[in-house]
Amino acid sequence: MKYIGAHVSASGGVENAPVNARSIGARTFALFTKNQRQWKSPSLSPQSIELFKHRCEEFGFRLDMILPHDSYLINLGHPQPEGLQKSREAFLDEMQRCEQLGLSLLNFHPGSHLKEISLDDCLGRIAESINLALEKTAGVTAVIENTAGQGTNVGFAFEHLAQIIDRVEDKSRVGVCVDTCHAFAAGYDLSAQEMFDRVWADFDRVVGFSYLRGMHLNDAKKGLNSRVDRHESLGKGVLGAEPFRLLMNDARFDNIPLILETPDEALWAEEIAWLYGLEQ
Ligand SMILES: [Zn+2]
Ligand SMILES: [Zn+2]
Repeated sequence: MKYIGAHVSASGGVENAPVNARSIGARTFALFTKNQRQWKSPSLSPQSIELFKHRCEEFGFRLDMILPHDSYLINLGHPQPEGLQKSREAFLDEMQRCEQLGLSLLNFHPGSHLKEISLDDCLGRIAESINLALEKTAGVTAVIENTAGQGTNVGFAFEHLAQIIDRVEDKSRVGVCVDTCHAFAAGYDLSAQEMFDRVWADFDRVVGFSYLRGMHLNDAKKGLNSRVDRHESLGKGVLGAEPFRLLMNDARFDNIPLILETPDEALWAEEIAWLYGLEQ
């Protein structure tokens, strides 16, 4: 079964996210469990946690299919000790929030070398950051997202994801989320069957489908290998409708969260219905 949702607002409290997801006909959703632009947020209240779980159950959202996203400020490969420490503390807090909510996945952007350290050093720091967070938590998988390769962000090549996973001790609690817009911006052509098949064969060889724990379904505003992260509504960008039709008819993408991060929220209900309609 395909589990499609969108990154919905949790404004006013995490307990509002399932309400927002239900209103667009989603089968799952993504959310921020704290303000994504601040280092510190108040802890989740017991009432908020209970209402979140209650609503997920009432509306039929499986907790293990929900894909929370961490704060944009966190850089787990930070070159400076202070920035790295701050990021690791914030990431642990994010993992603990997931634990409290009964969620089993946490999606994050791997990090940036800021031109101060080598790619390899940065990937090593990210792996170590994951190890530290996994040691102190239970039941939550760290889900690394591929990036568009904008600026000094690492994680745009499947090899980077594999190199991080390689150095993570508990392989049962590390996975990846592939964002279609980021992949295309990083040079992975998903726009037609032949190239789509080649990209996923490459992914399977380098990373392995067993590590695929989620997808972000976004069209792209910029061209192949642009290294620019600009999402577009499905079918309205340079990727077009075809990759999404292929995806919806491919069992390798069953039973993982497929999350829209498309720019026009007003279209989400329509985009979700359109995706489900592509299944043959
Ligand atoms: Zn994404
Ligand atoms: Zn993006």
